[in-house]
Amino acid sequence: MRDQTMYPTLTEQTRESLSRPFQLLIDGAWTDAADGETIDVVNPADEQVIAAIPAGGREDIDRAVRAARQAFETGPWARMTPGERARLLWRIADLLEARQAEFAELETLDNGKPITMSKWVDVPASISALRYWSGWCTKISGETRAVDMPGEYIAMTLREPVGVVGLITPWNFPLMSTVSKLGPALAAGCTVVLKPAEQTSLTALRLGELILEAGVPAGVVNIVTGLGAVAGAALAEHDGVDKISFTGSTAVGKSLIGAARGNLKRLTLELGGKSPTIIFPDADLEKAIAGAANAIFRNSGQICVAGSRLYVARQHFDQVIEGISSAAAQFRLGNGLDPATTMGPLVSDKQQQRVRAYIDGARAGGASVIASESAPGGAGYFVEPTIIHAVEQRAPVVREEIFGPVLVAAAVDDLDELAALANDSIYGLSASIWTRDISAAYKLARKIRAGTVTINSGSIAGPNIPFGGFKQSGWGRENGAEGIESFTELKTVITAL
Ligand code: NAP
Repeated sequence: MRDQTMYPTLTEQTRESLSRPFQLLIDGAWTDAADGETIDVVNPADEQVIAAIPAGGREDIDRAVRAARQAFETGPWARMTPGERARLLWRIADLLEARQAEFAELETLDNGKPITMSKWVDVPASISALRYWSGWCTKISGETRAVDMPGEYIAMTLREPVGVVGLITPWNFPLMSTVSKLGPALAAGCTVVLKPAEQTSLTALRLGELILEAGVPAGVVNIVTGLGAVAGAALAEHDGVDKISFTGSTAVGKSLIGAARGNLKRLTLELGGKSPTIIFPDADLEKAIAGAANAIFRNSGQICVAGSRLYVARQHFDQVIEGISSAAAQFRLGNGLDPATTMGPLVSDKQQQRVRAYIDGARAGGASVIASESAPGGAGYFVEPTIIHAVEQRAPVVREEIFGPVLVAAAVDDLDELAALANDSIYGLSASIWTRDISAAYKLARKIRAGTVTINSGSIAGPNIPFGGFKQSGWGRENGAEGIESFTELKTVITAL
């Protein structure tokens, strides 16, 4: 880091980490980008440049894919037992645990999120996820099937690693999304080329150090930072890659379908959302209000499952809006390193401008906009928690993913319309229902076309809970058995006895 005095609270470990160069990890060695280009890393809370990462390009991706291919086919990784892979994953978790404070601080500096969140959510959840995936190494198995033919046969299925996988991650939960892909990929026996988001690559690169320290053989995990349109696209197009696991926007996800055509590589796509929160007339309003506020304002609204559309029974609409406004006013916006901060900035100036443009557009269109006036002045990409209502259901703020702390609310007169309202979106990632009538909740949950529906609860996630989207929110599922299967190919072996 150029000026360490700016952040007096940083631990010694983090200072040391920031004083070392950030480089690409290719075939077990740290290296600069082939053309020497770098990208400045900006702390979104104060707009200061805190580090530089390599801007990897096509040549770097090609080297990384070749290293991953060799490690998959001929390296020690290919001969390791599942138990040996399990021990390596567990060891990475132990090493991450020993450097928790550093990873939490790097995540906050890089992404802007409150340190309390990095420290109590992002890093511990990543450690447990690594341990969860470690357990899967010895539990991947096939089945036997009956053969309906004259004679005697044994027909069985084997689950084999899909091969070399490209992992492309977004910036909102950088370490967690890295681990949620890396864990099952390694557990299944794949080798990896990881392309983290250009805005938030620091923890992925430092995780690479732990991966080597744990004893993962060279070439099994390669990390190439760089621009999505350059490094990400090169990875997605590369014929040496068997599968891409992508989390990010629907627009880029769609472009990967074209990029994957060359060798028909497998694709898992975790994409955007415009998830509804639905409050029935009989809901426990105190809990529903807190849940609805948390669903949209947590992580500054930069969550794919953010509850960005709110539908409330008309008789409670004013009370709910007032409740969410006062919850919004209680967020303390500021530099994430300050433990008192409960809402950090957005990740970049681009994201700040994008979110503000949506708010301004709604205001210009005559919508009612309630913004809590708590954003700190001066530098930093802050946007106040904002509630928009009295807006046309066709307006962009209602239809498009904003990915910021912006809630769009509507009063509902006819409860029979709730399913149609919830489903009136190109997305289908998640939904949340608040009511004391559990039968009504289940009935509605069945009608909603979304990958996850929560009832009287905010979003609950975990490495064992399948996650993914209907419609344009994605292809496939991450986590649990479904997640690990997506990093395997199924082979059928039939033997005549
Ligand atoms: P994004 O722009 O789609 O970027 C995601 C990743 O793709 C980044 O690593 C990006 O690289 C890379 N990328 C960009 N263009 C590419 C291309 N042409 N080829 C290959 N890779 C490319 O999304 P974002 O703005 O980072 O993240 C926000 C989006 O992610 C939101 O839509 C959100 O809903 C979605 N998201 C979904 C989930 C889920 O599980 N469903 C979870 C989190 C986020 P650079 O950043 O380096 O350009």
